[in-house]
Amino acid sequence: MFCPECGSTDKKMVGDICIDCFLKEFQLIELPERIEVQICSHCNSKLEEGKWSEEFIPEEEIIYRALERNIEVADEVENENITLGIEQIRGTIANCCVEAIGEVQGTEIEEAHECEVKILKTVCPTCSKIQSGYYETVIQFRADKREIKSEEYAKADEIVERTLIKQASSDKLAYCPQIAKPKEGRDYYIGSFKSGKKVAENLKEEFGGMIKESPRLISEDKSTGKGLYRIWISVRIPEFEIGDFIRYDGKIIKVTSIGKNSVVGVELSTNKKHNIPMKHMEDIELIKKSSEIETATIISKSPQFIQILDPIDYSALDLDMREEYNSLNVGEEIELIRFDNNVYLLI
Ligand SMILES: [Zn+2]
Ligand SMILES: [Zn+2]
Repeated sequence: MFCPECGSTDKKMVGDICIDCFLKEFQLIELPERIEVQICSHCNSKLEEGKWSEEFIPEEEIIYRALERNIEVADEVENENITLGIEQIRGTIANCCVEAIGEVQGTEIEEAHECEVKILKTVCPTCSKIQSGYYETVIQFRADKREIKSEEYAKADEIVERTLIKQASSDKLAYCPQIAKPKEGRDYYIGSFKSGKKVAENLKEEFGGMIKESPRLISEDKSTGKGLYRIWISVRIPEFEIGDFIRYDGKIIKVTSIGKNSVVGVELSTNKKHNIPMKHMEDIELIKKSSEIETATIISKSPQFIQILDPIDYSALDLDMREEYNSLNVGEEIELIRFDNNVYLLI
């Protein structure tokens, strides 16, 4: 065959030209002389193909990946072997060497390329949000019709902190830039709605109560018409606490536990256990605090009555005998609680 470039007639042809003319212009690989990589100087996440990746990667690895991404191997190459090397790093610039060996049409070719990888330190969008104190959610921690106790505040602070530490592995906005302390409670500002919701759920799990979300439009993106919302989540913990006495559905109940979804207690007149769904919190009335429990002495017992000394006016008080009172002995001290004109012994 005749090569139109060099005129030779006895050489192997690649397409329209001979192999020697083909290889003169041929490159195994192509890569730019300079590559820039953007890295967040706060969290070390990096920008790759327009997307910030959040995983932590050591600097050398970032350089190698940048080279790999930018190397283009020609289609005709077979059995290629590419070696990447960092010759030196000066400041933010790495001088790299890329060596390639491969075969084209049965001929082995070796190539060496120089490349400069420049690492640009910037701030990623997430870190710039964090720096500006950005938040998507405010958790309003409140108690129903009472003040929050200092130990409850301490517990709530601890829950918020613990939840955010746990969330931080999957959510960079799991942080609390601000805690406001209005008279009626605490406002925890949380970076992301996702983590804010988790905080609210964990508070409810500890204290019981009700969660209510109210989104508020903060601003509007004029070009897209999309609204930017911030969500206030109120966590309202019950007025009653464990050991207190509540009225629900006409029954007087001593609260034995408060959970995420229900209030558990024992009905005083029947000793029956009740499980009240937390969503009915509004219908639960606190009637006595555990601090209002009184102590009295048993004076006498008969099959019909048990007689105690009223701790207020020291009069003798007869109560109908109940099976649970059988184990009580005369002279013993017993706890009681009073509602209206009724006295209940607490066993
Ligand atoms: Zn030729
Ligand atoms: Zn960052």
